[in-house]
Amino acid sequence: MSKPTRLAVKDSEPKHLPIYQHKNKLVQAVRKSPFLIVTGETGSGKTTQLPQYLHEAGFCKNGKIGITQPRRVAAITVAQRVAQEMKCTLGREVGYQVRFDDCTSQETAVKYMTDGCLLREVLADPSLSQYSVVILDEVHERSLNTDILLGLLKNVFSDPAEAAKRRSFPLKVVVMSATLESDKLSAFFNNCPVFEIPGRVFPVTCTFGSAVGPKDVERNFYVKEVVKVALDVHISEKAGDILVFLTGQSEIEHACDLLFEKAENIDYRYDVQDRTVEGLLILPLYGSMPTDQQRQIFQPPPPGIRKCVVATNIAATSLTINGIKYIVDSGFVKQLNHNSRVGMDVLEVVPISKSEAQQRAGRAGRTSAGKCFRIYTKEFWEKCMPEYTIPEIQRTSLTAVILTLKCLGVHDVIRFPYLDCPEERFILEALKQLYQFDAIDRRGKVTKLGELMVEFPLHPGLTRALLKSASLGCQDLLLPVAAMLSVENIFIRSVTWRTLEKEAAKKHRALAEKTGSINDFATLLCVFNSCKSSDRPSAWCKENWIHWRALKSAFSVETQLREILLRLQQVQDFPTESFDGNKSELLRRCLCSGYFTNVARRSVGKVFCTMDGHGSMVHVHPSSSLFEQEAELNWVIFHDVLVTSKTYIRTVCPIRYEWVKDLLPKLHEVDVYELSSVARQEVTEDEMVKWESKEAAKRQQEASAEDV
Ligand code: ADP
Ligand code: MG
Repeated sequence: MSKPTRLAVKDSEPKHLPIYQHKNKLVQAVRKSPFLIVTGETGSGKTTQLPQYLHEAGFCKNGKIGITQPRRVAAITVAQRVAQEMKCTLGREVGYQVRFDDCTSQETAVKYMTDGCLLREVLADPSLSQYSVVILDEVHERSLNTDILLGLLKNVFSDPAEAAKRRSFPLKVVVMSATLESDKLSAFFNNCPVFEIPGRVFPVTCTFGSAVGPKDVERNFYVKEVVKVALDVHISEKAGDILVFLTGQSEIEHACDLLFEKAENIDYRYDVQDRTVEGLLILPLYGSMPTDQQRQIFQPPPPGIRKCVVATNIAATSLTINGIKYIVDSGFVKQLNHNSRVGMDVLEVVPISKSEAQQRAGRAGRTSAGKCFRIYTKEFWEKCMPEYTIPEIQRTSLTAVILTLKCLGVHDVIRFPYLDCPEERFILEALKQLYQFDAIDRRGKVTKLGELMVEFPLHPGLTRALLKSASLGCQDLLLPVAAMLSVENIFIRSVTWRTLEKEAAKKHRALAEKTGSINDFATLLCVFNSCKSSDRPSAWCKENWIHWRALKSAFSVETQLREILLRLQQVQDFPTESFDGNKSELLRRCLCSGYFTNVARRSVGKVFCTMDGHGSMVHVHPSSSLFEQEAELNWVIFHDVLVTSKTYIRTVCPIRYEWVKDLLPKLHEVDVYELSSVARQEVTEDEMVKWESKEAAKRQQEASAEDV
C-alpha cells in the first residue's frame, strides 16, 4: 500500500470539518434570508469553508464575497489557505486586503480583509455595491471596527425597500461567531435566523498552578514560569503538540530563546516519559511575523518531534492549529485600553477574562481529550479575572470611528445602533478631540479638514500633523515619520546576548545623533532616509540593527500615504500656508499641530506632567533616544503611552512652549457636556447663537475672575 502524499491529505481534509455536513443547508439559509447568524466552535471550518461554499453555489455572479477579520494576520493566512484549497494563485480569485497591503485584482471574487478595510470601503461606497455577500467574521472578538460595521449594516440594510433603492441586486449579510451571543445578535438584526454548526469537543482537564497569584498582576515574571511548565509537559506528557499563550512579540521571542536553550540539554534516552518523543520544534506566532514563517505553524511536525507553538491571543480563535493536545496559559493578554488616569489609550498587559481562559483551554480538545496547564492560582482566577472580556468599543478611544460615522452622515452618534453602547463620556471625549483637531466644528459638523483627515488610515493627531506639513509644502518630512509609526518594531532590541544588546543600542544611538536635534521622530526620519538612499538597504539594516522587513513595509506605507495625499491635493482646494520660522524646527512644529494633545512638561527630576488636564505623571521610556537626558528637557510631545510598573511615554520630541502656547487652550475650551447636546441633534442656527452667547458670558466671567 502506498503512503498518501501530503497533497492528498490536505485536499481531503476540509471534508472532515464539522461544517461540511451542513453545506447545502447553510447555502440555502444564506439564500433565504438577508441576514444570517452562523455560530460554531473555533476550528469547525466557518472562515475557510463557508466562502468557498457560497462561491461554488454561484453567489459571486453579481458581486464579490467579502469576509472581514479583526486581525490582519488572520486575513492574510486564511486567504493563503483558501487560495491553496481552491487551487488558485493568491490575489486572483481569492485575495486579501489589509491596511497598506492590497493583494486583490479585478478577478477577485472571494476577498478576505480586515474589518477596518471594509469600514473604509463603506465610506467610499455606503451601499457596498461591489459585494453580493458580506461576512462579518469573528464577531465574538467584538473589535471596535466590527461593532461599528454591525451597526452600519443594520442601519443601511434592515429596511428592505430602502436597500432595494440603493442597489441593483440584494446584499446578503452573514455574521459569524464562535460563542453563544447568537440570541443577542439575532435580536439585533430583527430576529434573523441563526444557524448553529454542532461541533464535537473533547474534554480538557485544567489545572491551576502556584506561580501567579493576585499580588502578581503587575509583575511580568510569568515568561519564565511558562517556559518551565512547557518543558515539564514536554518531558512528562505523552506525544502531542503544545500551545503556549503569552502576550506579545518580545516576550514570545524571549520565551522561545529560553525554551531552546533548555530543550537542547534534554537527554531523550533518559529524560522523557514518552519514548516516541525525540525532539522539540519551537515556533513563535505573533501578528507582525513574516507570513512565510507563519505558514510553518500549520505544518505537521516531522515524526517523533513535538511541536511547541508560543503565541499571542491570535491562536485563541482567529487561527486554529491542528494537533494541539496541551495548553500552557499565562493568564495575560496585551490590550489597548482607554486609561482614564492618563486620559488616553494605552497598551497594557492585563489578566484575561474567564471566558477567554476557557476558550484558550478549548484549543486542546479539538480532536481528542487534552490538558490545560494554567500557571496562575485558583485565587487569581477568582479575584483577578473578569467573567467576560469587555468589548473594545467600551474601552478604547472612539475618535477615528466617530469621525468616520460623521463622514457617513450619522450625525447622532449617541443614538447609533450599537450592539453594546459605549459610555457616553467616551463618545463625548471623542467629539472633544475631533473638535480640538478642527475635524468638526462647534455644531458637530465635519469640517473641510475633517473630510481630508478621514481619508487617512492613521490616528487623527498624526493625520493632522501630516496635513499641516503638506500645507507647508514639507510633506517629505512627515510622510516617512507617519509611515514609520504605522509599522511595528523598526529597532532590533531584544537579543539573547548582553554584549550584542549593547552593540545594538550603540548603533541606534549613533543614528539618533546623526539627526542634529535629537528626538525620536527625527531618528525615524533618519533611519528611513539613510536606508532608502543606501545601495544595499538590507545590509544597511543588518549593520544598524534595524528590522529590514519592517522598513520595507514602511517604504510601501509611505508610498501609499503619498498617493492619498496627492489625490486629495488634486481634487480638493487644498490649504496652503507659509512658514517663517527656523527651517530646522519645521518637523517639530508640524508635529506640534497634531500632538498638542500629548504635551508634557518636566515637573521634578525625571518626572513629566501631561498638559491635557489630567496632569498625569509620566516617564520617558528607556527605548527613547532622550532617555537619561531628561534633565535637559522642559517641554516634550510624545507619540504614545505604555503602562507597566510606571507610566512611560514613547517616541518623544523636545519642543518649545511657544510652539504649543496657542494650541493648548483649545484643550480646555469646550466642556464635553456641552458637546453632548451637539451630539444628539442637528443644532439650529438659533440654538447656536444662544450657546455662543452663553459661552461668551462664561469667558467674560472667567476673565474678570482672573482680574481679581
Ligand atoms: P473556524 O473559522 O470555524 O474557526 P477555520 O475555517 O479557521 O475554522 O479552520 C478550519 C480548519 O482549517 C482548521 O482545522 C485549521 O487548522 C485549518 N486551517 C486554517 N488555516 C490554515 C492554514 N493556513 N494552513 C493549514 N490549515 C489551516
Ligand atoms: Mg474563524
